[in-house]
Amino acid sequence: MSIEYRFCPICGSKLINISTNVKECVRCKERFYKNPVPAVASILFNKKREILLVKRGEEPKKGMWALPGGFMEVRETVEDAVIRETEEETGLKMEDIKLLDVATEDSKRYTTVLLVSFFSDKFSGEMAPGDDSVEVKFFYFKNIPEIAFSSHRRFINKFFEIMRWK
Ligand SMILES: [Zn+2]
Repeated sequence: MSIEYRFCPICGSKLINISTNVKECVRCKERFYKNPVPAVASILFNKKREILLVKRGEEPKKGMWALPGGFMEVRETVEDAVIRETEEETGLKMEDIKLLDVATEDSKRYTTVLLVSFFSDKFSGEMAPGDDSVEVKFFYFKNIPEIAFSSHRRFINKFFEIMRWK
């Protein structure tokens, strides 16, 4: 189920829907807008023309493969977010990241997620699963398994297209 706030975080009074994506506090009249949640994803590639995928250890889509990534936090840039999330899930620290693509994806919990993807072949550290990933592995395009999120699949296709590796 998507997250629906029922009480005002400022004064604790009831919130009422004034339109599909806007709630208003009955007491202090503060309005709360339902916005997409920003997330990041990364494509790390090597000289063999493989890309790195992580096997998810948490719901949603537990046990399926996906790109490294996750949700942005406040007070970090989108670039910091993708470097942090990638390092948490793969052990590898990205450098010289380049913007790949932007996409939206439906989400049960957050309704709409806005994803920004980056790619790089420069990274350092010891490859190891961590955080909510249980396995980390490089794949050739033809061996890529079913991907957990349609936005990630789109990023992968776009990456191999622009590299002309398909
Ligand atoms: Zn209030």
